[in-house]
Amino acid sequence: MRHGMDKGKDAFCDEKRYSEAFFATKHFLALYDKKPLLPGHCLVVSKRHVVDINELSPEEFADLRHILKSVLPGLAKVYGDCKSYNLVIQRGKPAGASIAHFHIHIVPRKPNDAYANDDDIYKDIDTKANVLPRKAYLAEVAKLRKYLRYKQKAPKGL
Ligand SMILES: [Zn+2]
Repeated sequence: MRHGMDKGKDAFCDEKRYSEAFFATKHFLALYDKKPLLPGHCLVVSKRHVVDINELSPEEFADLRHILKSVLPGLAKVYGDCKSYNLVIQRGKPAGASIAHFHIHIVPRKPNDAYANDDDIYKDIDTKANVLPRKAYLAEVAKLRKYLRYKQKAPKGL
């Protein structure tokens, strides 16, 4: 393999994002979405730069299951009053992906939330422009870290 061949240069490759994670496993980070559609909207992002889900190794797939098993119940507890959620993967621009680096959107749902009976949630993911103010963003990260007992270690160089 050529050196750096699978290195991308997108926002999810930036190791600075590691310091914002509210949970992490060996191969994945859980990040709060900067433009949440609903409270609790977050992302599970591969640490390694891959674009397509089929590029994940068997070990990474097992680890993906591992992080979802921690994050989904955590989100249900912190934001939901039920176990409803949308799990969305967008692959490619026609599917709405704005960052070509494997990530899964998780949007906790409640009866009668802002997207009740509205499939626009799939259209709005990744494109809705309401950026959460920094302070509010960090408050959500802190809430989830506390619930998931995640102790953040700053990445090298930070
Ligand atoms: Zn990347």
